[in-house]
Amino acid sequence: MSSPATDARTAHAAGVARLLASYRAAGPSASVRLAKPTSNLFRTRTKTNARGLETSGLTGVLAVDPTAHTADVGGMCTYEDLVAATLPHGLAPLVVPQLKTITLGGAVTGLGIESTSFRNGLPHESVLDLDILTGAGELVRVSPGERGDLYRAFPNSYGTLGYAVRLRIKLEPVKPFVALRHLRFHSIPDLIVTMDRIIQTGELHGIHVDYLDGVVFSAEESYLCVGTQTAASGAVSDYTGQQMYYRSLQHDNGVKEDRLTIHDYLWRWDTDWFWCSEGFGAQRPTIRRLWPRSLRRSSFYSTLMRYEQRFQIGNRIERLGGRPPRERVVQDVEVPIERSAEFLDWFLCTVPIQPIWLCPLRLRSDDGWPLYPIKPQRSYVNIGFWSTVPAGSADGQTNRLIEGKVSELQGHKSLYSDSYYSREEFYELYGGETYATVKTRYDPDSRLLDLYAKAVQRR
Ligand SMILES: Cc1cc2nc3c(=O)[nH]c(=O)nc-3n(C[C@H](O)[C@H](O)[C@H](O)COP(=O)(O)OP(=O)(O)OC[C@H]3O[C@@H](n4cnc5c(N)ncnc54)[C@H](O)[C@@H]3O)c2cc1C
Repeated sequence: MSSPATDARTAHAAGVARLLASYRAAGPSASVRLAKPTSNLFRTRTKTNARGLETSGLTGVLAVDPTAHTADVGGMCTYEDLVAATLPHGLAPLVVPQLKTITLGGAVTGLGIESTSFRNGLPHESVLDLDILTGAGELVRVSPGERGDLYRAFPNSYGTLGYAVRLRIKLEPVKPFVALRHLRFHSIPDLIVTMDRIIQTGELHGIHVDYLDGVVFSAEESYLCVGTQTAASGAVSDYTGQQMYYRSLQHDNGVKEDRLTIHDYLWRWDTDWFWCSEGFGAQRPTIRRLWPRSLRRSSFYSTLMRYEQRFQIGNRIERLGGRPPRERVVQDVEVPIERSAEFLDWFLCTVPIQPIWLCPLRLRSDDGWPLYPIKPQRSYVNIGFWSTVPAGSADGQTNRLIEGKVSELQGHKSLYSDSYYSREEFYELYGGETYATVKTRYDPDSRLLDLYAKAVQRR
């Protein structure tokens, strides 16, 4: 009789065979792309003739090793499925991106971040080894000691060097509950000072800190959300119903305490897509009551958003009302912690978007990652803002202003959304020289798109 683990491995092997067959069937010079059922990419892409590679069968959890604290997973396995397999063992990935359908392959090649990033770095830093289908059509094993050039260049390459087919990642022990302390600040510089102190000491008021992120509602109202794992049982909150997690942070002064199960903590931002569910009316009490609980999740909102983008519904409504069209400003940027209050001050005066998400990070490894060269042994704050603003006279006016400010403050910008850099700037900022060498080696016939074409030219 076969075991679930054997079944998962058999399904994976069949999936790999289908992927390779679809690559070969595309012909020796055809461009290829992944045919994935879900996506968290925000860039709109021009229609492509590239052949879709078969990804079914590559979505499973192959094994969880509760002794070694590792998991072996298919490249298109979602974090939702992985967490469901690890939590029964009291384990979790070192970084769990907040949106349930983000996949392991997507988070490693397209970067990710969460409230453990101040102590665990970014998702790609917990990858022990992975199998990649390169642009040349070879399936290769990659680790720090084996094809180390590809291992280092893969994060932030967005599938332009190859596709992650299987990954083995490190896990960490977790307790069943998270005790939360939400700290209210009336000044952003004060919040940043406290955030920096927690990163350096790993504690707040003598209590160990496992999780750290924050939200800015305005210059006068911001919060740090400090989480500590605990096994102590007790009442827990539920933000998958009528209450909303982000609203639960708000209070006038001091510290507000709360508790969640570890499962609900990890997915606390998914139910309302941080706060972006508001755009679909899902936060209005009458609509919320009718909205099926199973569809209160980021993947459903992103499907709605894709329809909106495809048919330009928002801009049509603006035009009908005689208002100018709007520019989408959906970005996550990393700013050195010592410049982050300056960035936020500038942002709040320049870009009419709130709330803003804050998430501190420090790389785990001292070796660096050439395509996203934030510096080791230095703290950064990931600053996320996801909305629209009135369009200016130039295409992407506000996004360009933000790119300029981020570069001025020696920060970096994620590439999952719109970018406007010139080719030269992009080469400088995203490890152009290393990328060119690795690209020539692993995708010599350019079967996959080039990173600039994908990230800036929206191909
Ligand atoms: C609104 C928004 C908020 C976000 N917030 C967060 C956040 O809070 N935390 C966080 O961690 N991340 C966040 N992200 C970023 C997200 O982690 C990345 O966009 C990630 O790449 C998405 O993974 P996915 O599996 O959905 O990949 P997709 O969206 O399907 O693909 C993203 C890119 O990766 C490539 N790709 C996908 N799978 C593979 C693979 N197996 N091998 C190689 N290349 C592959 C695709 O070709 C594509 O170029 C956010 C993104 C958005 C749009």
